[in-house]
Amino acid sequence: MKIVLIGIQGSGKSTQGNLLQKILGVPYLSTGHIFREMAKEKTQVGRYIKEVMNAGYLIPDEKTLEIVSEYLSRDEYKKGYILDGFPRTVNQAQSFANGIDHVVYLKVSDKEALWRISLRNDEVREDETIKAIHKRIELFHSVTEQVIEYYRHKGKLVEIDGEQPIDEIHKAILKKIKVKENE
Ligand code: AMP
Repeated sequence: MKIVLIGIQGSGKSTQGNLLQKILGVPYLSTGHIFREMAKEKTQVGRYIKEVMNAGYLIPDEKTLEIVSEYLSRDEYKKGYILDGFPRTVNQAQSFANGIDHVVYLKVSDKEALWRISLRNDEVREDETIKAIHKRIELFHSVTEQVIEYYRHKGKLVEIDGEQPIDEIHKAILKKIKVKENE
């Protein structure tokens, strides 16, 4: 099964992605994680990615598509995957015709997301300055919400109230994608 998770930062995509990968038996892949790893490289590309990420901007579509395609061509993703953070622009979505089954939109208000991010203390991330977080939320509304509409028109969108407890959200996703919990 191929699933895309969409939602603002702090909406619970990685939590739900990790729960889903256990049940569905397909790997979870986060483009934010891939880029954070690339940003550690002391190369020109690494430095460029770090700069863009720390400002909260998006990596250009061409580069993003190139990297995602390279990952998804690997054997481990043959049976399917759970993608977090991609596609984020309509151009990325259009260029990525890869037989997606469901696009799960975790709907959380900006206020709730900002509250959750402020409470996170498990990791300190260089790209999580207040300015970068606000930029990312702004870009979600101006750019990524169009991706949600794109998939809604295609009949692929599953909209979930992301402000429920973790377990309730998990159950709601499984119900909508018609997967039984003991499968
Ligand atoms: P995330 O962890 O998903 O919030 O991603 C962190 C950062 O990685 C973003 O602010 C972007 O700079 C970059 N990024 C992740 N996914 C994408 C994407 N699909 N397109 C462009 N940039 C991305």
